[in-house]
Amino acid sequence: MNFNIIGDIFFPPACVACGDSIARGVLCATCRQGIVGFDTLFCGTCAARLPDQKKICHKDAPFVLGAAAPYDDDALRALIHALKFQGIGAAAEPLAEILAAYVARLGLDLGGGGASGESDAWTVTPVPLSRERARARGFNQSTLIAQPLARALGASYDEHLLARIAHRKPQSDTEDIFERRENIKGCFALAPGADVCNKKIVLVDDVTTSGTTFTEAARILKAGGAKKILALAVAKA
Ligand SMILES: [Zn+2]
Ligand SMILES: [Zn+2]
Repeated sequence: MNFNIIGDIFFPPACVACGDSIARGVLCATCRQGIVGFDTLFCGTCAARLPDQKKICHKDAPFVLGAAAPYDDDALRALIHALKFQGIGAAAEPLAEILAAYVARLGLDLGGGGASGESDAWTVTPVPLSRERARARGFNQSTLIAQPLARALGASYDEHLLARIAHRKPQSDTEDIFERRENIKGCFALAPGADVCNKKIVLVDDVTTSGTTFTEAARILKAGGAKKILALAVAKA
Protein backbone atom coordinates (compact mmCIF):
# COMPACT_ATOMS: atom_id res chain seq x y z
CA MET A 1 0.00 0.00 0.00
CA ASN A 2 1.30 3.43 -0.84
CA PHE A 3 1.89 6.18 1.65
CA ASN A 4 -0.93 8.59 1.10
CA ILE A 5 -1.42 11.94 2.81
CA ILE A 6 -5.12 12.03 1.94
CA GLY A 7 -5.49 8.56 3.46
CA ASP A 8 -4.05 9.86 6.71
CA ILE A 9 -6.51 12.71 6.93
CA PHE A 10 -9.52 10.44 6.47
CA PHE A 11 -8.19 7.50 8.43
CA PRO A 12 -10.81 6.64 11.05
CA PRO A 13 -9.57 7.68 14.50
CA ALA A 14 -9.02 4.31 16.17
CA CYS A 15 -6.02 3.19 18.18
CA VAL A 16 -3.86 0.94 15.96
CA ALA A 17 -3.02 -1.23 18.96
CA CYS A 18 -6.32 -1.78 20.83
CA GLY A 19 -8.93 -0.46 18.40
CA ASP A 20 -10.49 1.99 20.88
CA SER A 21 -11.73 5.18 19.32
CA ILE A 22 -9.54 8.23 19.91
CA ALA A 23 -9.99 11.93 19.32
CA ARG A 24 -6.79 12.28 17.28
CA GLY A 25 -3.60 10.49 16.36
CA VAL A 26 -3.14 6.75 15.91
CA LEU A 27 -2.38 5.43 19.40
CA CYS A 28 -4.53 5.86 22.52
CA ALA A 29 -3.03 7.28 25.71
CA THR A 30 -3.40 3.96 27.56
CA CYS A 31 -1.44 2.05 24.92
CA ARG A 32 1.18 4.82 24.71
CA GLN A 33 1.68 4.81 28.47
CA GLY A 34 1.83 1.02 28.50
CA ILE A 35 5.00 0.98 26.38
CA VAL A 36 7.84 0.29 28.81
CA GLY A 37 11.03 1.60 27.29
CA PHE A 38 14.70 0.89 27.79
CA ASP A 39 16.80 3.25 29.88
CA THR A 40 20.34 2.58 28.66
CA LEU A 41 22.36 2.61 25.47
CA PHE A 42 23.75 -0.71 24.17
CA CYS A 43 27.14 -1.82 22.93
CA GLY A 44 27.28 -1.68 19.10
CA THR A 45 29.24 -4.92 19.02
CA CYS A 46 27.72 -7.23 21.67
CA ALA A 47 24.51 -5.32 22.53
CA ALA A 48 25.35 -5.32 26.27
CA ARG A 49 23.56 -2.61 28.22
CA LEU A 50 25.81 0.38 28.86
CA PRO A 51 25.14 1.86 32.29
CA ASP A 52 25.85 5.60 32.41
CA GLN A 53 25.81 5.58 28.58
CA LYS A 54 29.57 4.88 28.44
CA LYS A 55 31.35 2.21 26.39
CA ILE A 56 32.52 -0.46 28.81
CA CYS A 57 33.13 -3.64 26.79
CA HIS A 58 33.96 -3.10 23.10
CA LYS A 59 35.61 0.31 23.14
CA ASP A 60 36.42 0.02 19.42
CA ALA A 61 32.78 -0.58 18.39
CA PRO A 62 32.08 1.68 15.38
CA PHE A 63 28.84 2.89 16.90
CA VAL A 64 26.78 2.94 20.06
CA LEU A 65 23.31 1.43 19.81
CA GLY A 66 20.19 3.06 21.16
CA ALA A 67 16.76 1.42 21.17
CA ALA A 68 13.67 2.97 22.73
CA ALA A 69 11.74 -0.19 23.62
CA PRO A 70 11.55 -3.92 22.96
CA TYR A 71 9.98 -5.11 19.70
CA ASP A 72 7.83 -7.64 21.59
CA ASP A 73 5.84 -4.75 23.05
CA ASP A 74 2.42 -5.18 21.38
CA ALA A 75 1.53 -1.50 21.10
CA LEU A 76 4.94 -0.54 19.71
CA ARG A 77 4.84 -3.36 17.19
CA ALA A 78 1.32 -2.34 16.13
CA LEU A 79 2.56 1.22 15.52
CA ILE A 80 5.51 0.02 13.44
CA HIS A 81 3.32 -2.33 11.42
CA ALA A 82 0.77 0.44 10.85
CA LEU A 83 3.51 2.62 9.37
CA LYS A 84 5.43 0.00 7.45
CA PHE A 85 2.83 -2.41 6.16
CA GLN A 86 -0.42 -0.42 6.24
CA GLY A 87 1.08 2.82 4.97
CA ILE A 88 -0.35 4.87 7.85
CA GLY A 89 2.10 7.78 7.70
CA ALA A 90 0.66 9.36 10.86
CA ALA A 91 2.20 6.49 12.87
CA ALA A 92 5.66 7.97 12.23
CA GLU A 93 5.02 10.90 14.59
CA PRO A 94 4.41 8.85 17.78
CA LEU A 95 7.34 6.58 16.85
CA ALA A 96 9.59 9.65 16.63
CA GLU A 97 8.18 10.89 19.95
CA ILE A 98 8.96 7.53 21.58
CA LEU A 99 12.56 7.79 20.35
CA ALA A 100 12.87 11.43 21.44
CA ALA A 101 11.52 10.53 24.89
CA TYR A 102 14.11 7.75 25.13
CA VAL A 103 16.94 10.17 24.25
CA ALA A 104 15.61 12.59 26.88
CA ARG A 105 15.34 9.79 29.47
CA LEU A 106 19.01 9.01 28.88
CA GLY A 107 19.92 12.66 29.36
CA LEU A 108 21.59 12.87 25.95
CA ASP A 109 21.79 16.28 24.30
CA LEU A 110 22.00 15.75 20.55
CA GLY A 111 20.86 19.24 19.69
CA GLY A 112 24.29 20.79 20.08
CA GLY A 113 24.83 24.41 20.92
CA GLY A 114 27.07 23.45 23.84
CA ALA A 115 28.43 26.17 26.08
CA SER A 116 31.95 25.56 24.74
CA GLY A 117 30.94 27.26 21.50
CA GLU A 118 32.30 24.45 19.35
CA SER A 119 29.87 22.69 17.09
CA ASP A 120 28.31 19.93 19.16
CA ALA A 121 25.49 19.43 16.74
CA TRP A 122 24.55 15.96 15.61
CA THR A 123 23.18 15.20 12.17
CA VAL A 124 20.22 12.84 11.96
CA THR A 125 20.06 10.57 8.91
CA PRO A 126 17.79 7.61 8.09
CA VAL A 127 19.04 4.18 7.02
CA PRO A 128 18.23 4.28 3.31
CA LEU A 129 16.12 1.71 1.47
CA SER A 130 17.10 0.43 -1.95
CA ARG A 131 15.49 2.34 -4.80
CA GLU A 132 13.50 -0.80 -5.70
CA ARG A 133 12.10 -1.22 -2.20
CA ALA A 134 11.38 2.51 -1.77
CA ARG A 135 9.48 2.42 -5.05
CA ALA A 136 7.54 -0.70 -4.08
CA ARG A 137 6.61 0.64 -0.63
CA GLY A 138 6.20 4.24 -1.73
CA PHE A 139 8.17 5.64 1.22
CA ASN A 140 11.05 4.90 3.59
CA GLN A 141 9.67 4.39 7.10
CA SER A 142 13.03 5.39 8.61
CA THR A 143 12.90 8.74 6.80
CA LEU A 144 9.40 9.39 8.14
CA ILE A 145 10.63 8.72 11.69
CA ALA A 146 13.99 10.52 11.34
CA GLN A 147 12.54 13.85 10.16
CA PRO A 148 10.28 14.58 13.16
CA LEU A 149 12.94 13.08 15.45
CA ALA A 150 15.54 15.60 14.24
CA ARG A 151 13.05 18.41 14.88
CA ALA A 152 12.29 17.09 18.38
CA LEU A 153 15.99 16.80 19.23
CA GLY A 154 16.90 20.18 17.75
CA ALA A 155 19.49 18.37 15.60
CA SER A 156 20.10 18.92 11.93
CA TYR A 157 18.75 16.53 9.35
CA ASP A 158 20.38 15.21 6.19
CA GLU A 159 19.01 12.22 4.32
CA HIS A 160 21.74 12.30 1.66
CA LEU A 161 24.64 10.86 3.62
CA LEU A 162 24.23 7.18 2.84
CA ALA A 163 23.03 5.49 -0.33
CA ARG A 164 21.83 1.93 -0.72
CA ILE A 165 23.68 0.63 -3.73
CA ALA A 166 22.47 -2.97 -3.75
CA HIS A 167 19.00 -4.43 -3.60
CA ARG A 168 18.78 -7.58 -1.48
CA LYS A 169 16.06 -9.48 0.31
CA PRO A 170 14.84 -7.91 3.58
CA GLN A 171 17.00 -8.71 6.61
CA SER A 172 13.84 -10.04 8.27
CA ASP A 173 13.70 -12.80 5.61
CA THR A 174 17.16 -14.14 6.47
CA GLU A 175 17.67 -17.31 8.51
CA ASP A 176 20.46 -16.41 10.91
CA ILE A 177 23.11 -13.85 11.76
CA PHE A 178 25.56 -15.29 9.24
CA GLU A 179 23.10 -14.91 6.38
CA ARG A 180 22.17 -11.44 7.68
CA ARG A 181 25.80 -10.32 7.60
CA GLU A 182 26.28 -11.73 4.10
CA ASN A 183 22.99 -10.24 2.88
CA ILE A 184 23.80 -6.68 3.99
CA LYS A 185 27.48 -6.65 2.97
CA GLY A 186 28.26 -4.05 0.30
CA CYS A 187 24.73 -2.61 0.47
CA PHE A 188 25.72 0.92 1.46
CA ALA A 189 28.01 3.63 0.12
CA LEU A 190 28.41 7.29 0.92
CA ALA A 191 25.86 9.24 -1.11
CA PRO A 192 27.34 11.26 -4.00
CA GLY A 193 28.80 14.49 -2.63
CA ALA A 194 28.20 13.52 1.01
CA ASP A 195 30.80 14.77 3.48
CA VAL A 196 30.68 12.99 6.83
CA CYS A 197 34.21 13.85 7.89
CA ASN A 198 34.30 14.74 11.61
CA LYS A 199 30.53 14.63 11.83
CA LYS A 200 28.53 13.22 14.71
CA ILE A 201 25.79 11.18 13.15
CA VAL A 202 22.53 9.76 14.47
CA LEU A 203 21.59 6.86 12.23
CA VAL A 204 17.86 6.04 12.44
CA ASP A 205 16.02 2.82 11.68
CA ASP A 206 12.66 1.46 12.80
CA VAL A 207 13.73 -1.95 14.08
CA THR A 208 17.06 -3.57 14.85
CA THR A 209 17.44 -7.31 15.30
CA SER A 210 21.05 -8.40 15.15
CA GLY A 211 22.46 -4.94 14.44
CA THR A 212 23.96 -6.04 11.12
CA THR A 213 22.34 -3.23 9.13
CA PHE A 214 23.60 -0.61 11.58
CA THR A 215 27.04 -2.24 11.63
CA GLU A 216 27.38 -2.12 7.85
CA ALA A 217 26.04 1.44 7.58
CA ALA A 218 28.28 2.62 10.44
CA ARG A 219 31.30 1.00 8.79
CA ILE A 220 30.77 3.14 5.69
CA LEU A 221 30.26 6.33 7.71
CA LYS A 222 33.38 5.61 9.79
CA ALA A 223 35.40 4.95 6.63
CA GLY A 224 34.22 8.37 5.44
CA GLY A 225 35.67 9.95 8.58
CA ALA A 226 32.58 10.24 10.79
CA LYS A 227 33.58 11.17 14.34
CA LYS A 228 30.80 9.49 16.34
CA ILE A 229 27.84 7.37 15.41
CA LEU A 230 24.76 6.78 17.50
CA ALA A 231 22.51 4.19 15.85
CA LEU A 232 18.94 4.67 17.06
CA ALA A 233 16.16 2.16 16.51
CA VAL A 234 12.66 2.60 17.83
CA ALA A 235 12.48 -1.10 18.63
CA LYS A 236 15.01 -3.78 19.42
CA ALA A 237 14.14 -7.43 18.83
ZN1 LIG B 1 -4.92 1.67 22.44
ZN1 LIG C 1 30.32 -5.00 23.88
